[in-house]
Amino acid sequence: MCRSWPAEPVCAACVARFAPVGLRCLGCAILLPVGLLHGPASGSRLCASCIRQPPPLDSTLAALDYAYPWSALIGTFKFGNQPGWAPFFAGMLLQVPGVRQALAELGQNDLILPIPLSKERLQTRGFNQAWELAKALAQQSGHAGQTSSTLLLRVKNTRPQTELKREARLDNVRGAFQVDPLRLTQLKGRRVVLVDDVVTSGASLFTAAAVLQAAGAAHITGIVLSRTPQ
Ligand SMILES: [Zn+2]
Ligand SMILES: [Zn+2]
Repeated sequence: MCRSWPAEPVCAACVARFAPVGLRCLGCAILLPVGLLHGPASGSRLCASCIRQPPPLDSTLAALDYAYPWSALIGTFKFGNQPGWAPFFAGMLLQVPGVRQALAELGQNDLILPIPLSKERLQTRGFNQAWELAKALAQQSGHAGQTSSTLLLRVKNTRPQTELKREARLDNVRGAFQVDPLRLTQLKGRRVVLVDDVVTSGASLFTAAAVLQAAGAAHITGIVLSRTPQ
């Protein structure tokens, strides 16, 4: 960002300057208005939309807003073939309040799962950025090997959520995810951390979480790199 050529993709000074400080909704990770932090509702930590319709996760935690300058950087990570940036982003996520705790709560049979890409998308991109993030998070939190990119499957090639209006996003991802039928028992009573790089409205994350819940997962925490500001 400052072009000072650090060893990391972004230097510590730029992280401090550009990472937003504030509380996010525990349902969809949208940044809550500052005024809310001092109001009577400060204990609930949910936005109006999540109060009306609570998401099927214990909580969703995000590091960044998907906005300037991070959106460009995340775009390069995804489309510019930079899977090597995943450990850096995982390090940022571990600084987010609640993330270390959510990972520390995982037992040795619990799982860190990425939101899967469709076969078609995986073929054109070459890697799944959420899977790279999940592996880096597992590695950095002492859960290496507790990840899988083949347990939760994307069985429908959907349009990118960012191209759609809010109302169309739920329809777009309906029926998009499925658990490998041969591995259903691996989820019974398990704690799952679900990882993605960008959350738009939460529709993909919530739909995937509902599928895991239906398969018997007992607790699901969403850990996402970024959240669109609206
Ligand atoms: Zn910098
Ligand atoms: Zn919310």
